[in-house]
Amino acid sequence: MSQNPDQPPLSGDLPQIARLREEAGRCVACGLCVPHCPTYRKTLNEADSPRGRIFLMAALLEQRLPLSPEILHHLDLCLTCRACENACPSKVRYGLLADGMRDWIEPQRQRPAGQARLRHMLFDTLRHPRRTRAAGWLLRTYQKSGLQGFARKTGMLAAVGVERAEAQLPALQKIRTLHGMHVASGTARGTVGLFLGCVAQLTDAATLDATIFMLNRLGYRVTVPRAQTCCGALHQHNGDIGTAQLLAQENQQAFNVSGLLAILHAASGCGASLAEQVPPLPAPLFDISAFLVRAEGWEGIQLSPLWQTIAVHEPCSSRNVLHDQDAAYLLLQRIPGVSLMPLAGNDQCCGAAGSYALSQPEMADLLLRDKIEAIKASGAQIIATSNPGCAMHLAAGLRAEGMAIEVLHPVHLVARQMGYENA
Ligand code: SF4
Ligand code: SF4
Repeated sequence: MSQNPDQPPLSGDLPQIARLREEAGRCVACGLCVPHCPTYRKTLNEADSPRGRIFLMAALLEQRLPLSPEILHHLDLCLTCRACENACPSKVRYGLLADGMRDWIEPQRQRPAGQARLRHMLFDTLRHPRRTRAAGWLLRTYQKSGLQGFARKTGMLAAVGVERAEAQLPALQKIRTLHGMHVASGTARGTVGLFLGCVAQLTDAATLDATIFMLNRLGYRVTVPRAQTCCGALHQHNGDIGTAQLLAQENQQAFNVSGLLAILHAASGCGASLAEQVPPLPAPLFDISAFLVRAEGWEGIQLSPLWQTIAVHEPCSSRNVLHDQDAAYLLLQRIPGVSLMPLAGNDQCCGAAGSYALSQPEMADLLLRDKIEAIKASGAQIIATSNPGCAMHLAAGLRAEGMAIEVLHPVHLVARQMGYENA
């Protein structure tokens, strides 16, 4: 992880346990983080709060408590949303602590064989972009061929334990290979690199395509290096920091292209991981909305008006880690006629949180319910969010309620008003 100048220095040379103990030791148990924690707010159990979890982590590291299923439950229930970090006067790096603890615990825990196999298959697929695209092709074929309807009717999905994961998937678009150079139109303003992400390539390919469309229209050449890979966030948060570090090195090399103005991401979850990776990326990293807000080339660009209300969902990765949540509003304000509002409860996680919606379905659904109620109360016709994981989770909740509300990335929406879908 890179060093935040507001936080105490990292003791990089200490062994893993000593570093974790040192981080946990920064907590003075003041409790200021407790009311900000989404899981504590649901259970009102101190063991489901940041302070309670840090106490448990310290007790495990100091061998004052054994690694019991109860303790694992409280630690696993953490979303790693990092709302607690923003509230902490002692600057405890809760994210670093939680990831480090999972990495330390994972080799010690006994997972059921089926669960261990599924996890291995998922994380191994994601670290190989070709396998991820092949999995996307298979899933799209499944959705298009009629097999989906058959599998849903026969209960086959529940029998193999993938019913929930399958229901979360949106209708997948045709996978296009975006690798290579995308040439700008008009005045040349420089070259930017585009990070694709692994899951986002499958579930929100339109946003990546719209991103290239917009950048090219504004005069930016876009390079999409073929050697780029997954950001490693899922590995980092699921007890495999070693693989996350390997992926960070691969991305660092893939984007080592001379003359890049910036490296852009269109998924805040990936962005948070890339921003903290070691080694750092070789050019400044920006969320695509944040870059477009500052970009040149807007003169002469016409956006068609949109007389609708858009509620902006702020992903935790954007709000609590990257602190760039304002960019989505600033970009969307370019659309004439639009009425913008923050979605109520943006300080609380939606429950998507990487693979959390699959691993902790009850808590994920409780948090999702709050978002669905907030969307209903907002009267919005469109929900905008910069993280495809949140988008998928919110859209699945809206589908289940029979609510025909679009969930879109801000860039997709702005590009659409620039004529993207007619391009
Ligand atoms: S990361 Fe989020 S869920 Fe976990 S302890 Fe902090 S506030 Fe609570
Ligand atoms: S705010 Fe910081 S120091 Fe206070 S209890 Fe929470 S983690 Fe500990």
